[in-house]
Amino acid sequence: MKKRVVILGAGVTGLSAAYRLSQFPECEVHVLEKEMEVGGLCRSFTEGDFTLDLGPHKFYSNVPGVTEAMCEVMGDEFLLRDKTQKLYMSGRYFSFPLSLVEMITRFSPIKSMKILLSFGWQVIKTTVSSQPDQTYRDFVVNKFGKALYEQIFQPMARKMFGNPEKLDRRLAEVRISSPGLVAVLKQVLFSKKVDRTVSAPEFHYPKSGFGRIPAKLMEKAKANGANFHLGVKVTKIEQSQGKVSGVWVSSDSGKSEFISCDQLIYTIPMQAIAELMPELPAEVRQAARFVKFRHTVVYYFLLKAKSVLPAMWVFYPESKFRFGRLSEMTKFSPSVAPEGYTALMADFTCTGDDPEWSMNDEELGKHLLNQMKPLKLFSEDQIVKCFSKRFKNIYPVYEMGYEERVNKLRNLESSLENIYFVGRLGDFNYNNSDQCFDMGFSVANHIQEKGKVAEEWKNLRTERFEKYRIVD
Ligand SMILES: Cc1cc2nc3c(=O)[nH]c(=O)nc-3n(C[C@H](O)[C@H](O)[C@H](O)COP(=O)(O)OP(=O)(O)OC[C@H]3O[C@@H](n4cnc5c(N)ncnc54)[C@H](O)[C@@H]3O)c2cc1C
Repeated sequence: MKKRVVILGAGVTGLSAAYRLSQFPECEVHVLEKEMEVGGLCRSFTEGDFTLDLGPHKFYSNVPGVTEAMCEVMGDEFLLRDKTQKLYMSGRYFSFPLSLVEMITRFSPIKSMKILLSFGWQVIKTTVSSQPDQTYRDFVVNKFGKALYEQIFQPMARKMFGNPEKLDRRLAEVRISSPGLVAVLKQVLFSKKVDRTVSAPEFHYPKSGFGRIPAKLMEKAKANGANFHLGVKVTKIEQSQGKVSGVWVSSDSGKSEFISCDQLIYTIPMQAIAELMPELPAEVRQAARFVKFRHTVVYYFLLKAKSVLPAMWVFYPESKFRFGRLSEMTKFSPSVAPEGYTALMADFTCTGDDPEWSMNDEELGKHLLNQMKPLKLFSEDQIVKCFSKRFKNIYPVYEMGYEERVNKLRNLESSLENIYFVGRLGDFNYNNSDQCFDMGFSVANHIQEKGKVAEEWKNLRTERFEKYRIVD
């Protein structure tokens, strides 16, 4: 008898689990995906002669084994790109992550002095009485001082995640790879080596768009016998005798089908479990209601221009810009646009109550163009086409107290013993695709070796998944 493993969601987490499981002859793999295409947030799409990603995606990993595994999957489709990224503030471009030398020489003397004094003051304060960081704000102020927090980190965090005084320190720990000014100073003075846990000088990118990665994973998993059910929405998870017994799916035609399973890999939004298993205790369903995500908007400008940005992507922390980042697809791979054309993406996160979320494309385009005018990147007559893509609930919000709620849902793993929460949305883990590949491979290996949620699975989460850090 083969072991039947059902995977909910064909984003890169589900696909890497499917690919690895398909290499084990004793497993029968079924992937269920509501869209007609695989890839989730890592998809690419075509618009005329352009291939576009859902926001800028680079592949870089310092998780052991992941780069090797993905290079093997991608073969010669993977380009190795030298990374260029910048930060724009007070009308100037800076390197990113900020270099100490630039901070001193390129900020106005008053600003530089303020940053250094506030950092010195922070060092004294922390030495005299060290308080544990509670919030995002505490973490940044303790590492960089109040002035730098107020200049850069606070406005950027507000744009991306909400009020940094209400966010758990863990978000800053995951998202801000820089170890702080003391470490930066030591690096400048004593070491010329690049710290790859903070910022990597290069990354991989598929020649024809990031979406080639999920496409390749599916192709390989299929060739090994994995089954893909596209265009089906999971509507219910059934349990019997204390375990998950299978899932109900429905297609656009209204047809419902039950798919039984021995093991269930869950990569779809975590909070959806409350609707999928209405019989769960009230406190678990209540916890699901407070597991929150932010939405993302990506606005595309297809341009008749060779190149418009001074780097692959530029961060804009200042609040006068609604977008947090601009990025240029042709700098990732020139093959994604016709000769003489380029594609610029402006991306930002928001809640459903923010006005930008409900603006139509024309209104939003005007709004963003007005803010971009002083940047002098392109003129309006160079725009060939512009439009947005909007994604609901994709940025996990680590509000204070989130961990307790998320753990109430994760505890279902121990009680049911055959369901695994993995991925950015499935495990509410603010991570990058390389870490999703790692989670996918890890859950597949665990299922093959142990066959149930066991102590080793919980250890994987605390020792590995919770230690992921985003590398800039
Ligand atoms: C703007 C932006 C930029 C990013 N940049 C980078 C980057 O540079 N480098 C990097 O490595 N990572 C980057 N990431 C992160 C990366 O995209 C994610 O970590 C990764 O794609 C998450 O994969 P996943 O499989 O966990 O989730 P998802 O991609 O969200 O996949 C979940 C899948 O489940 C499906 N689904 C949902 N509900 C149901 C249902 N009821 N039934 C069936 N199917 C369902 C969805 O359609 C989706 O396909 C970025 C993300 C964003 C938003």
